[in-house]
Amino acid sequence: MSSAILARLRPRSLRARLTFWYLLTLSGALGALAVFVFVGQARTSYRELDRELHVRLLGFVADHRAALLTLDVASVLANEVAAEVPVLVRQATGPVLFRSEGFPSLDWASARAAASAARDRTPLITVADISGAPLRVATTVVPRPGAASLVVQLAASVAPVHRALARLGLGMMLFIAAVLAVASYGGAFIARRALAPVDEIVRRVQRIQAAQISERLAVRTGSDEIDGLVTTLNEMLDRIEGSLHSARRFAADASHELQTPLAAMRGAVEVCLRADRTPTDYRALAADLLAETERLSTLIRDLRLLALADRGQILEAAEVVDLAGLVSECCEIASAMAEEKQVLVEPFIRGRPMVLGSPLHLRRVVLNLLQNAIRYSPAASRVVVTVARPHGHAMVMVMDHGCGIEPQDLPHIFEPFYRSDPARARDTGGSGLGLAIVEQIVRLHRGTIKLTSVPGRGSAFVVYLPSATAAAGSPSADPHLAAPTPSQD
Ligand code: ADP
Repeated sequence: MSSAILARLRPRSLRARLTFWYLLTLSGALGALAVFVFVGQARTSYRELDRELHVRLLGFVADHRAALLTLDVASVLANEVAAEVPVLVRQATGPVLFRSEGFPSLDWASARAAASAARDRTPLITVADISGAPLRVATTVVPRPGAASLVVQLAASVAPVHRALARLGLGMMLFIAAVLAVASYGGAFIARRALAPVDEIVRRVQRIQAAQISERLAVRTGSDEIDGLVTTLNEMLDRIEGSLHSARRFAADASHELQTPLAAMRGAVEVCLRADRTPTDYRALAADLLAETERLSTLIRDLRLLALADRGQILEAAEVVDLAGLVSECCEIASAMAEEKQVLVEPFIRGRPMVLGSPLHLRRVVLNLLQNAIRYSPAASRVVVTVARPHGHAMVMVMDHGCGIEPQDLPHIFEPFYRSDPARARDTGGSGLGLAIVEQIVRLHRGTIKLTSVPGRGSAFVVYLPSATAAAGSPSADPHLAAPTPSQD
């Protein structure tokens, strides 16, 4: 039978499969036991038949020794031996001298086999009578002084043994069938009971739609395996619920963020249309429109970048990047940006860590952190940028002495559109996606980002990346490295 047919025959329900395998194993074990018992019983029965036949033969010889020693054996035995005793007396190589009425008629081949047994003195043989029924024939030699030895053969039917064995076989088969019938019912019942919690779990999970995503499955089914499955499913539901909420929040935030510049632009256009304005007014309105357009395009660019980073699609061409060189360039750009606020950007380069990644996106990480540091720093303060190689990893730390971040905001600061002070942050011109993008880029470089902040004193963002040699093998930069606090300037 081909494997495709076998596969189609295999039961699809786990319950049916468990019952099937249980019954198969049980019937195999019972079958083996039955064969063992049957073969053992058959051997014992045949052995007993032979022993009994042999004893009877010796008894016959002992009882009729005198008759067997006479010359006229046939007529003496004819008077002595009861008709039903199945005995035959012959000369070892000569003719049959006496044959009782009880000795079965043999077919030609069996008669020859009995004669050969007499000649060869084979103690026991199996032959068939004229009807084909099996017979056991025991043979013994009776020596006679001064005359040729005689051979005495006694026959016994094997049919009683066969009948007893057939009864035993039938009894065992009926017993096995009964046991299997009970076991199939019991096996199906046990399998049903064992898998009942799985059915319940399937029903519950089917009921949990997006609308009731906060529903959970009840643990404690009484089985460690199913409890483990339920716990894992509940954890998965937790994660799905979290993702669903983030996606909803993200969609709401994104539409709100897009709405704000659009509303401002619409307002500016309406002002233009309402009445004639002076050229100076028009120029001011056009400048407002341009600013809002820029804000909108920055937002759209950042949204696209975040989507690409989320899907891991920004690291197609990774190369070895000299982090110290990259940070130095970023510091120069940031110094120009910080000039207006008279913020001093100070790089501290300790070592030349190399990392594997995208220079474009790594520059985006450093510039974004520097931009925020300058943005949230008071005028005439310092922003310190450190590059180092602690424990073989590459590290960049951007530390400012600005407003800092409140402890309750820290866990959310890397979420898209999260702002610790929404009104002020939107005024600073950020899209609210900067840190979310930074975190995604660092994650794609198999690194980690840590933040320490003291409100009123400043913040330190520390990025750890695997160094270029380790990047190929290590799963991520050491997340246990502690970020220094902003006061360690
Ligand atoms: P934005 O574009 O609004 O700056 P980010 O994702 O870059 O968005 O930052 C998210 C929020 O984190 C900011 O709105 C600000 O409240 C806070 N933040 C980021 N960097 C700093 C910093 N260096 N000091 C204080 N607050 C910061």
